[in-house]
Parts: sequence; C-alpha cells; structure tokens
Amino acid sequence: MTGPLFDSHMHTPLCGHASGSPREYAQAALDAGLAGICFTDHMPMPAWYDAPWRMRLDQLAQYVQDVQEAQAEFAGRLDVRLGLEADFHPGTERFVEGVLGAHPWDYVIGSIHYIGAWGFDNPEFIAEYDSRDLAGLYRDYYALAEGAAKSGLFDSIGHLDLPKKFGHRDPDGYAALHALDVIAERGLALDFNTAGWRKPVAEAYPAPDLTRQAAERGIPFVLGSDAHTPGEVGHRFTDAIKQIHDVGGRIVTYQGRVRHG
Ligand SMILES: [Zn+2]
Ligand SMILES: [Zn+2]
Repeated sequence: MTGPLFDSHMHTPLCGHASGSPREYAQAALDAGLAGICFTDHMPMPAWYDAPWRMRLDQLAQYVQDVQEAQAEFAGRLDVRLGLEADFHPGTERFVEGVLGAHPWDYVIGSIHYIGAWGFDNPEFIAEYDSRDLAGLYRDYYALAEGAAKSGLFDSIGHLDLPKKFGHRDPDGYAALHALDVIAERGLALDFNTAGWRKPVAEAYPAPDLTRQAAERGIPFVLGSDAHTPGEVGHRFTDAIKQIHDVGGRIVTYQGRVRHG
C-alpha cells in the first residue's frame, strides 16, 4: 500500500545548475498527482568546497523565502516542505552543523559527491575512473557514507551507490553491505533517487539488490526525483514504488526532521 506520495529531492536555480522557479516545481508536482514535495537544494558549504555547484551562504535566506512563497501559494493543494541536500566531506562538519541549526528544516539529505578532492560524479572528471582500482574506490566511498551516517547530521543518505553513475559498478559489494549495517544502526533512511534512470547507468540509486538488502535491515526509503528542472518532478515514481515494494521496503517522508509513514 502506498499513502500520499511526496517527491522529497529537488533543486532550485540558486544552486546554479537547476532551472525553473519553486512554484513551477510545485505546479509540476500537482499536475503529476503528488501530495507534496520537499525542496532539498545543495546547501552552502565553506567557500573552498565545490562553490560553483551550490548556493552561497548569503543566499540561504533567499532560498528559505522562495520556498516559503511557494508554500503559501500552494497551501491546501500541495504540501510544500523545506529541506537541504547537504554534503558529507570530512572537515566541514562544523560548518554544516551551523547551517543546519540556522533554520527548522523539514528534511536533510547527506550526500557524498567527493572522494578526497575528486568530484567523482562530475562528467568532466570521468577519466579518473580509469586510473583507480574500482574495489578500492567503492571502499573509500562507503567509508565516507558510514562517516555521514555516524555524524548524526542527516536524516538520509543521498543516492547511495552514486559512483555507478557512468557505469562503473561495484565489483564486490561488501563495503556497501557494511555501510547499510551502519545506516540501519544509526536509524537513517535512504534517498530512493530516480535520477539514476536518467544517467548512463540507467538504474535508480540504490540498485535493486541494495534496495533488498536495505529493506531486510529495516531501512526505510524517501522517494526523490533529484529534479533539476520542473519536468523531472516525480520521475518514474511508479517504477520506484514497485522496486521498493517488491522487496518489502517501506516509504517514508520527513517533516520537522521527524519521520512519518
Ligand atoms: Zn545538483
Ligand atoms: Zn540532488
């Protein structure tokens, strides 16, 4: 059974690489028959970290205001929530903690986009995969995912198996299972992210086998399209729900950082 559907992962133009106003994302959600959405734009980070791909700290108040305007406009028709996609990058935890404390967010995703200084999901740096040992890469990546889960900063882990984006799949899988143990132990959810279906790997994050392993550990899923344009809102949610329910998984949402469903 599926309750009212939310899309809890989407962006705004403030991050510099998304298009469409919050009200256009909200309208798209309404047109798609969703009950609600949660904006989770790329949060501000220290100035030296990934600056072109996120809002600046001095834009945070604008972000809150833009989403609150959509909230007011769609009140009674669509439940519009306000969250963030945070990055977990060792050394930035205190900065992140500060931003998370600056506003009562509904939902915070913790994502890993960097291994060391390498932005591994950036198509510009894809050649780096050829000079890495894939098993080692995934071990390093999942160690970071465990760090994110243990940091206590986040409600969910974003796009769990992201290094597969361009087709470089995990050759063993043990590190992933260990990370799932930690995620379950710490009580986090997983961002079930349908953007993977729009990427070369052509598979949602997490993969079907990891979806099963997560469900077996009692880890719930938060549906997210990772929309960077309004047309992507609710992308392939029917397939997402099927993949989750096929393995007995549970779909939840967050409000005021409390899990529902
Ligand atoms: Zn983005
Ligand atoms: Zn995202």
